[in-house]
Amino acid sequence: MVIPIYNEAANLDEFFRRLLEVLERLAVSYEVVCVDDGSTDETLARLIERRARDPRLKILSLSRNFGKEVALSAGIEHSSGAAVIPIDCDLQDPPELIEEMVAQWRLGYDVVYATRHSRPGDGLAKRLSARMFYRLLDAVSEVPIPSDAGDFRLLDRRVVDALLRLPERSRFMKGLFAWVGFKQTELSFEREGRNAGSSAWTYWRLWNFALDGVTSFSSLPLKIWSYVGVVISLLAFAYALFLAVFKLARGINVPGYTSLMVVVLFLAGIQLITLGVIGEYLGRVYTEVKHRPLYLLREAHGFEQYEDRT
Ligand code: UDP
Ligand code: MG
Repeated sequence: MVIPIYNEAANLDEFFRRLLEVLERLAVSYEVVCVDDGSTDETLARLIERRARDPRLKILSLSRNFGKEVALSAGIEHSSGAAVIPIDCDLQDPPELIEEMVAQWRLGYDVVYATRHSRPGDGLAKRLSARMFYRLLDAVSEVPIPSDAGDFRLLDRRVVDALLRLPERSRFMKGLFAWVGFKQTELSFEREGRNAGSSAWTYWRLWNFALDGVTSFSSLPLKIWSYVGVVISLLAFAYALFLAVFKLARGINVPGYTSLMVVVLFLAGIQLITLGVIGEYLGRVYTEVKHRPLYLLREAHGFEQYEDRT
């Protein structure tokens, strides 16, 4: 199990109660890699306390809040199981589904992802925007990305190893999971509300997350402008012809302030949008070439390679 955790002290007890119950019932050997994503509450202390009782719990603590995608990558990188299941710890991903995932895995599937057939736990705005985003992403992306599937899924070791070979810094996990391919199947569940606390994702953060998704898996926003340009040029050419003929037939026609303003402002708008789109990609290219480490660890508990850091 890989669990990204950011300020979730209030959820830990209930989460672990339900998770461990399921894992015990499954009667498999397991490890639980908890990634503390720079929490500022007592999350880390609670995890360490819990580890003292159950050494199957391993803890990575990042040096600051790096965001869920990075926390998840860190956890997956440090996992050692034959299958890895990332799960949120606010109980929006029901641990009980793990049993069904493992059953499908044993049937030979490499990826078993959980789609939310309904999400009564989220508000209307969030449901609608999430729905629109997933549809749009699937439409523009180079690889089909399953709609309404989150990070809650089972990954075979083969898939995990493939994921770890992807070097990019902008980790849009849902897309990366889809990109690697392998034999996939889906389960559906109803996504409940959070157990306690509120989502750390503001709309601004979600918007940037959406941009990350689109820019990581599609270059359509970059290329579309050549086509827009061609169409506008053709229209402009037709209009120029019309004006020339009109002038020959009727002489000079001075009024035209309105149409001039419209054309100038419209084209200026399009050019700024185009520049903005290029900027979005360029910014991400810059992030990639800087080659900074994806995350920094402050503490690690239960990992041999860091024994001195615990
Ligand atoms: N999370 C994280 N880092 C962050 C934000 C969230 O590790 O910067 C974790 C959080 O603790 C939870 C999971 O990611 O386990 C999902 O977060 P949240 O419930 O806020 O997202 P939502 O369910 O609204 O998509
Ligand atoms: Mg949540």
